[in-house]
Amino acid sequence: MATTTAPQLTAKTYKSEVHNDWCPGCGDFGIVIALQMALAKLQITPHNVAVVSGIGCSGKTPHYMGTYGFHTLHGRVLPSVTGLKLANHRLTVIGVGGDGDGYGIGVGHFVSGGRRNLDFTYLVFNNDVYALTKGQASPTIEKGKKTKSMADSSIVEAINPVALALASGYTFIARGYALEVKYLANLIAQAIQHRGSALVDIFQTCPTYNDLHSKSWYEGKDSGQPRLYKLDESDYDPVVHDPNDRAEVAQKKAQALLKSEEPSGRLPLGVFYQLEVPTYEDCLREKGVLGHEPQARLGAVFQRDIQPLLDRLA
Ligand code: SF4
Ligand code: MG
Repeated sequence: MATTTAPQLTAKTYKSEVHNDWCPGCGDFGIVIALQMALAKLQITPHNVAVVSGIGCSGKTPHYMGTYGFHTLHGRVLPSVTGLKLANHRLTVIGVGGDGDGYGIGVGHFVSGGRRNLDFTYLVFNNDVYALTKGQASPTIEKGKKTKSMADSSIVEAINPVALALASGYTFIARGYALEVKYLANLIAQAIQHRGSALVDIFQTCPTYNDLHSKSWYEGKDSGQPRLYKLDESDYDPVVHDPNDRAEVAQKKAQALLKSEEPSGRLPLGVFYQLEVPTYEDCLREKGVLGHEPQARLGAVFQRDIQPLLDRLA
């Protein structure tokens, strides 16, 4: 008797037919391909994936994905991610957005999203500028730096995304580079597999507005030494082995912070920090709020009887 096997999913499976209008040479192309490769690596069927974006060039990402998608408001990626994940906890929910969207307009949601430890993945396309609106300085541009799109140099300190994520309570924190696609795909796959709030901050080249952090700058063509290196090629261990050991948690956080502020100016890629603790969904399950079936399939927002609450508010 002939046996049938499910067709293998490839990166192409996750491509949409929508015309891509990013500028030629934009780092965003590499990130989308890496996301598609990561989903193929994990063999997650497209109808089990939702990609949620904010406003910015990166906001167009869901249009280019052959998965579910939602292009939401500026800075509101994570509230939408949270709603989707709670409505259907079986979905693989991936937030995507720029540095301006995530670390500027949506920074409050960035903090709240991280500390809940909901099981989502957030990819931040970090190019130091608000590229969609002609390249104004974003929160990640360094003090004293001026791109060709800025009227003057920045007079404020930059946000360090790794430090912000550590302080907010993200349980998986990594950094990738848009032009190292295979390596980035592997990081994204790890972030998706992690149970909890996962951030992948991604250095993204924007040849149209950011002439400082170009491909040749990341490669160190001006300084004679590559600026990027990989944490996993050293003895760096990002994993907290005993989540109940507060000293170990603090030590791993301090180590990640030090790496993210490396005084040599070199820029590490890879996983900075990883902690396995119960997710927000686990806590809701323990309280009996979240059951086996997704809320969306039950046709109700909560399994709880909310009538007494409504009566009280009436
Ligand atoms: Fe990419 Fe920059 Fe063009 Fe936007 S403006 S599509 S980020 S190169
Ligand atoms: Mg940006």
